[in-house]
Amino acid sequence: TEDLSARDPQIFEAIEKELGRQRDEIELIASENIVSRAVMQAQGSVMTNKYAEGYPGRRYYGGCQFVDIAEDLAIDRAKQLFGCGFANVQPNSGSQANQGVFLALCKPGDTIMGMSLDAGGHLTHGAAPNQSGKWFNAVQYGVRKQDNMIDYDQVETLAKEHQPKLIIAGGSAIPRQIDFARMRQIADQVGAYLLVDMAHFAGLVAAGEHPSPFPHAHVATTTTHKTLRGPRGGMILTNDEAIAKKVNSAIFPGLQGGPLMHVISAKAVAFGEALQPSFKTYIRQVITNAQALSDQLIKGGLDTVTHGTDTHVVLVDLRPKGVTGKATEAALGRAHITCNKNGVPFDPEKPTVTSGIRLGSPAGTTRGFGETEFRQIADWIIEVVDGLVANGEDGNGEVEAQVKAKVADLCQRFPVYPGL
Ligand code: PLP
Repeated sequence: TEDLSARDPQIFEAIEKELGRQRDEIELIASENIVSRAVMQAQGSVMTNKYAEGYPGRRYYGGCQFVDIAEDLAIDRAKQLFGCGFANVQPNSGSQANQGVFLALCKPGDTIMGMSLDAGGHLTHGAAPNQSGKWFNAVQYGVRKQDNMIDYDQVETLAKEHQPKLIIAGGSAIPRQIDFARMRQIADQVGAYLLVDMAHFAGLVAAGEHPSPFPHAHVATTTTHKTLRGPRGGMILTNDEAIAKKVNSAIFPGLQGGPLMHVISAKAVAFGEALQPSFKTYIRQVITNAQALSDQLIKGGLDTVTHGTDTHVVLVDLRPKGVTGKATEAALGRAHITCNKNGVPFDPEKPTVTSGIRLGSPAGTTRGFGETEFRQIADWIIEVVDGLVANGEDGNGEVEAQVKAKVADLCQRFPVYPGL
């Protein structure tokens, strides 16, 4: 039999259990979402069988006439969504999209500048253990102590001092909008390229609910699986034809071989969905929900970095309660609320412990949660955290069990993939 349940019961069971987890737990990981059945259908299609090295109309393999249709649609829709002239939809991940830009515009040993990981940047923006930190002279900027906002004066000072080839704006734990115009102004002063990595907020940009990196960025990268609600993957966008050519050569043959045509097909489907008016409604709700979550957490005695959010990200500062990110992630996990521990700026704790948790509204909003539900979730988070305050790392088992039961009830009212 060809059926997965019979062919490979172990993997079938793992998938079934993961589906159950997604249905039964509240997903607050800011970088995750719940894709449509149509996106999954495209990704689980025969497109996975096809080799298509090269680009549409310029392939190194025969039989590419139909995968070309899919990739052309993905490119056209991406350009339409982000109002730009060129799109490379082949990067297998956000990290490879960034590597593609580095390979296109920089040489090993060049100076690049990005936000440090502890201030909210991403590993691929020059962090020491990452290739970007090993193969480049990576200079890292941070946020201001008084308000945890990007320190543009520091960016300017560092840029003048180090004369980077490339400056990166963007990150993984930034609740506020970035001043792209200011970043470009700084880049222009030192003759650097400006790369905006909009992996987190790309969906907000696509919906017109967040400033666009263009026209300020020379080039922009993104993941396709976060707020954009597509399959796991990456993408590179630009308005500059010369950069576009270099980027295309950098992705293939520079970094990758055959593109994942099933994923590119799914990207096209997701971009088509994001072009619909309903996506704008969705993203507006994502932002409203994140703001409600932040507001209610603050009312309950926690703080959030920058005391609120403009986006889908809420970075909770646990220090007012004196508990760690590690203990909080574990306690919330026991109550079926999923999130990740995350350093807050100037965190006194180690990265494996941290003083914060990062929360996000994209997945919950997709399953239908509104402001009421997000305020309820905030109250549950406070209850669980107060259990840690009273009892130490073990938390209050009784409270956690009560919250878990209420979470189960809420999840049933907002089903994920009904009928699957
Ligand atoms: N850039 C930013 C800002 C991110 O947040 C992430 C993902 O967390 C990436 C790049 C990397 O994406 P991927 O995990 O697909 O490699």
